[in-house]
Amino acid sequence: MSVAVVAGVGVDTRHWIGGRRVESADAAVFADHSPIDGAVIAQISRGGAAEAEAAVAAAEAAFPAWAATAPAERARLLHAIADGVEKRLEELAIVETTDNGALIRSHRRGVMPRVAHNFRFFADYLVSQLGHPDFETRGHTNHVSWDPAGVCVLISPWNAPLMLATWKVAPALAAGNTVVLKPSEWSPLTASLLADIAAEAGLPPGVLNVVQGIGEEAGAALVAHLGVRRVSFTGSVPTARHIARSAAANLTPLSLELGGKSPFIVFADADLDLAVANAVEQYDNAGQVCLSGTRLYVEESIRDEFVARFIERTKALRQGDPRDEATDIGPSIHPEHLARVDGFVQRAKQSGATVLLGGGPNEELGGLYYRPTLFTDVDPRSEIATAEVFGPVLVLHTFTEEDEVVAAANDSAFGLAAMLFTGDRQRAQRVSARLVAGTVWTNCFFVRDLRAPFGGARQSGVGREGGTWSFDFYCEVKNTVFAPAGWRDGREGSVETQSREED
Ligand code: NAD
Repeated sequence: MSVAVVAGVGVDTRHWIGGRRVESADAAVFADHSPIDGAVIAQISRGGAAEAEAAVAAAEAAFPAWAATAPAERARLLHAIADGVEKRLEELAIVETTDNGALIRSHRRGVMPRVAHNFRFFADYLVSQLGHPDFETRGHTNHVSWDPAGVCVLISPWNAPLMLATWKVAPALAAGNTVVLKPSEWSPLTASLLADIAAEAGLPPGVLNVVQGIGEEAGAALVAHLGVRRVSFTGSVPTARHIARSAAANLTPLSLELGGKSPFIVFADADLDLAVANAVEQYDNAGQVCLSGTRLYVEESIRDEFVARFIERTKALRQGDPRDEATDIGPSIHPEHLARVDGFVQRAKQSGATVLLGGGPNEELGGLYYRPTLFTDVDPRSEIATAEVFGPVLVLHTFTEEDEVVAAANDSAFGLAAMLFTGDRQRAQRVSARLVAGTVWTNCFFVRDLRAPFGGARQSGVGREGGTWSFDFYCEVKNTVFAPAGWRDGREGSVETQSREED
């Protein structure tokens, strides 16, 4: 069967290569399960070297014409894709929820509108923002252009599948590149719907290709391909190491958006209701959010009050079926992932950490539901305090001095985000300036503007995407120098000589 019906929506389960639906050369498939009830919802084509080869060839063939397409026309097509996303928003939302277990209400009101916005933003940015004023060097004009790089391989994770995939697809296409997208094998469905939407919008064949499959097979073959000019990856640190090693052989430029263990700092002068409400949000998507502030640092004098309010609010969260609008916390993505999360929790308990909340699976619900968990009395160097769990598991520390909490917050292998709550503006400026992170939110969380740079320090990533940073990555930025009329080449007085003198 090449079409699976998921929550009433037909989803093609094959690859999308060169504007055609194709099965794997060896007809291999893998089973896609819903985390809601464990049911197999689709048998998906399982790509490998042959499909990577075919997809890169299709993208290479489509590249010259797409790169030469006027930016305004590329922008028009991206807006048409956004229109298609908005038209099929409900279908995308229910398919994504069924496939990855994240809340239907956030897919309807936050995630899928953001998918459309990804396309609109980069389309508009291309035509209205991208550019650098020409500048003169002794009568010669320097013109900076953002030339498309070529075939881009984009690899996305399962925790926010279509939002994170299109955060890469949209700028790569806007810039004039052609794309091979490899979604996660744990959430492959909406990438297939995106291919339909792009085709309906009129995107030429081969400009966007989707290869389905297992990371170590399809993903690895794509990264290793010599024809690939950019690899953008969102996922875990161990996978990033494999990808970086493979890309190094071809010197393929990489953008890596990786994991985190972000600090969430609450000073005694903070608005406590605001801080607690935001702290509880760190359980969103069952804790499967790269940016989650999973290390809570609360000033000692408000510790008891904070914990009491935090526990009260967390206990009021409704855990259950993510298709229900009233649900606050859904299931974990996969039995393997749940076992990994539980492994962290059980080892922490054995090491003597105190459980303030949760501490195991939700037995009433069964399946993949895990109780929101809060630990305290943990050694700051221990596994639970330092590793990314990627589940609904937070660790509480206390502090008394500003210097102490800055040092503790920065004592991490990661540096994706940091959150800081204080009523003192000067403190907010002072502390945020000292935190090592790609994004610092002061008295807020998850406020995102696509013009802003996004990425991680240390092991949370390499490079930044967003606004101009996306175009810098997906393009070969070129400087072209135009001589003035009548210029005669010659060593004496040449620009090269003069600029050497100026250097
Ligand atoms: P993962 O690393 O297991 O997989 C991510 C993608 O890489 C999948 O599509 C997978 O098929 C593919 N892959 C796996 N092995 C590969 C290989 N050898 N070569 C090429 N591709 C390969 O990550 P995940 O479990 O899907 O996602 C969770 C991780 O992603 C967490 O660490 C989370 O913090 C991180 N994440 C980061 C961001 C960010 O923006 N920084 C956003 C979301 C998730």
